Amino acid sequence: MTSNLLTVAYIAASALFILSLGGLSNQETARKGNLFGIIGMAIAIIATALSPAVTSYATLAMVVLPGVAIGSLLAARVAMTSMPELVAILHSFVGAAAVLVGFASYLQPDPALTGVEVTIHEIEIFVGIFIGALTFTGSVIAFGKLRAIIGSKPLLLPGRHFLNLAMVAATLWLGYEFMGGNILTGLQSLLIMTAISSILGVHLVMAIGGADMPVVISMLNSYSGWTASAAGFMLSNDLLIITGALVGSSGAILSYIMCKAMNRSFISVILGGFGTGTAKASNTASTPAGEVIATTVDETVEQLRDASSVIIVPGYGMAVAQAQHSVSEITRILRDRGANVRFGIHPVAGRLPGHMNVLLAEANVPYDIVLEMDEINDDFPETDIVLVIGANDTVNPSAMEDPASPIAGMPVLEVWKSKTVIVMKRGMASGYAGVENPLFYKPNTRMLFGDARKNVDAILGRLIQSNEETSQVRVPEKVLANA
Ligand code: NDP
Repeated sequence: MTSNLLTVAYIAASALFILSLGGLSNQETARKGNLFGIIGMAIAIIATALSPAVTSYATLAMVVLPGVAIGSLLAARVAMTSMPELVAILHSFVGAAAVLVGFASYLQPDPALTGVEVTIHEIEIFVGIFIGALTFTGSVIAFGKLRAIIGSKPLLLPGRHFLNLAMVAATLWLGYEFMGGNILTGLQSLLIMTAISSILGVHLVMAIGGADMPVVISMLNSYSGWTASAAGFMLSNDLLIITGALVGSSGAILSYIMCKAMNRSFISVILGGFGTGTAKASNTASTPAGEVIATTVDETVEQLRDASSVIIVPGYGMAVAQAQHSVSEITRILRDRGANVRFGIHPVAGRLPGHMNVLLAEANVPYDIVLEMDEINDDFPETDIVLVIGANDTVNPSAMEDPASPIAGMPVLEVWKSKTVIVMKRGMASGYAGVENPLFYKPNTRMLFGDARKNVDAILGRLIQSNEETSQVRVPEKVLANA
């Protein structure tokens, strides 16, 4: 492929990536956005493979084919609930790749570069390895936290901000040495800097508490983009530079949106829990006042049949239980009976930005009844029943009522303002942030204990049965037998 054709292919791929991002910003166009991304990536890979830079197809096949096989297998097998961990570990690969590309570029310099070009290339190498190593170790720690291998509690070392500053200062000095100082050789400077930035990545993410993890994920997404961009500069690959910049900036915007949703300062989160001092770390393990009132499937169905307005608030537990299809059916039946049924989605519900929207779209819930927190929060006082399905932190009133709570200040869905709240979960366990939830003790809250899928299926079965009894809906016998 000639270099002109390669440029055309890269421009086409870049345009498709931009269209893809545009499509992904809306649920209705998300599938089309995904398709644009796939086509763009296919063009990018084929054009690169056919470019003059590739001299050995055997070597290319040896690295690409196992990657394709492992990637497809992992992606096909991964459960939706494990998606955040997969994303985190994929970010770490981008970081590791940038570190390796950086060292390779340094150890085998391009002889065509002269004078100032060499200096610029060395800066690219140094910066690329720095961001790459930080992204690699930070993502590995995020993976561990999301998989619960590492506790979600923040690690708040004494003088941690000073420690971070010292590491950044040491990196700057090593940068000076790398560019021609006279104490260390270039390779020594690079190796020490890689070790320091790796430690910095671990320290920054370890200091972030469970409730702030959504921001970390989107932030590491952004870092991985900048890392790819840096690798693009090192390899003089325009497409990698553009794609990396797109990922980097969209990740930064997403981090900002997540911070706003959680009422956190962007800077304080990226500095590793800056300001999460003693008040935020206070122990909230004391049991809230009030009594826990359990309810049954029959009572819940009874209340749902009498309700004219229902809001369903899904959370991580719904994803674990894979209850979205039955929830969608319940919604359809209640709407057919004339009830106003809507969904309230918290921006950080689940374990991935947009997690709940994806599940509900998969279950064919109409988009127009799926509302964001800001759109629905004022409607709770006029709502008969709120069904909280596997959500916990995102409906925790202590965020608004207890200034010492680790989630203090985070806007939540104010479900307790409705007439009745039915919370479906298996026991009294806390959510991801590890905070007690006073919602479960409110006088208008009823706890429907058990696996969300089992309970939602049972509710669906009773609703179908009662519909059949009043002969409003004809139900196939197979569905009744399963219910
Ligand atoms: P939470 O993690 O707060 O709570 C989920 C609840 O679901 C648990 O309390 C659990 O209680 C219940 N549950 C688990 N399995 C089942 C099941 N099979 N059936 C019924 N219930 C079940 O969920 P939220 O969605 O409310 O909040 C998300 C949290 O995750 C926030 O703290 C957010 O900051 C954090 N986070 C979000 C990310 C994102 O990008 N969205 C990324 C990383 C973290 P029990 O065990 O008693 O059943």
